[in-house]
Amino acid sequence: MQAMAHNPTRGCEILKQEFSTLLGDEPMARHTSFKVGGAADLFATPTSRDELIRIVTRARALGVPVSPMGSGTNILVRDKGIRGLVLSMKKINARPTITRISGTESLVTVSSGVILAALARFAMDHGLAGFGFAAGIPGTVGGAVMMNAGTALGTISDSLVSLEILTLDGEVKTVERSDLGFSHREISFNGFGPEVLVLGADFLLAPGDRSAMQASWAAHLEKRRASQPGSAASAGCFFKNPDKERPAGLLIDKAGLKGRRCGNAMVSEAHANFIVNLGGATASDILALKRLVENEVKNQFNVDLKPEVKIDGE
Ligand SMILES: Cc1cc2nc3c(=O)[nH]c(=O)nc-3n(C[C@H](O)[C@H](O)[C@H](O)COP(=O)(O)OP(=O)(O)OC[C@H]3O[C@@H](n4cnc5c(N)ncnc54)[C@H](O)[C@@H]3O)c2cc1C
Repeated sequence: MQAMAHNPTRGCEILKQEFSTLLGDEPMARHTSFKVGGAADLFATPTSRDELIRIVTRARALGVPVSPMGSGTNILVRDKGIRGLVLSMKKINARPTITRISGTESLVTVSSGVILAALARFAMDHGLAGFGFAAGIPGTVGGAVMMNAGTALGTISDSLVSLEILTLDGEVKTVERSDLGFSHREISFNGFGPEVLVLGADFLLAPGDRSAMQASWAAHLEKRRASQPGSAASAGCFFKNPDKERPAGLLIDKAGLKGRRCGNAMVSEAHANFIVNLGGATASDILALKRLVENEVKNQFNVDLKPEVKIDGE
């Protein structure tokens, strides 16, 4: 959500004076799973919707650009950091609520900062199916919605009914599913700019067998543990799959790039679509490796890989 800046530097100074909870020059390496990235001019983790709306409205009035984030598990921040205010939604995380719609369907209302896996567990505990796809996906519900996160089992958009958003004008609105578009790791908002802040979401879920769902969840977690680089710092799959027949990881593997390094960034040996930070990598290392992978895959297979990871900052 980038508001046009009149004098963003002065705007940041005023904002920091007005909101004592804002952090100045906050290294984004502390807030992203890649563990790289320079400082954000300002960083906020509001703990209530009121506080969030006050900060965003004031930032906009002062011409300070606002960049929302969830848990930072799909973001690569460049080494010179992010100008303006980074707003973490992690603490906008009220407990989900369930409204029975009929004997067969329930509406689950969730705040954006709730962790996706926690929502999936909540749904399972209440005998509701629909989040089995999320086993092993880190991050918040808001981040998952903005990324249309998913696995071979499904995506978050499958059961999404509506979103509550904060627009660039500081208005809270409900966006129905019919005004949303979904594609591979993408969402679009018809009639709204792309720059909105997701406050919450409603999902329509059907009943499921609790123990079958729990067993399936555990099996999928185990499968991922066996095929992914475990605790290494990364942002998950770096590139989008060009199509179902040719997943990016397969192309990168076939190009012989597993283990290839730029500085301390490496194409994972466990999963070729993961770029991992071996420790002390810079965003420049990761971006150099990204270019190398793109060039090799283009040369060998004439395929243009596109990043799934959101690249932000300067
Ligand atoms: C080990 C690992 C495994 C992964 N596996 C998968 C997988 O299987 N499938 C998959 O789809 N992804 C996967 N990911 C990627 C990532 O976890 C998902 O994209 C996740 O949904 C991102 O959530 P987040 O809260 O971390 O979002 P962030 O990374 O913080 O943000 C992602 C994007 O969403 C925007 N955003 C976040 N919250 C909001 C909000 N409230 N309002 C407006 N914009 C917002 C940000 O500006 C950014 O552009 C994996 C990542 C890791 C590290």
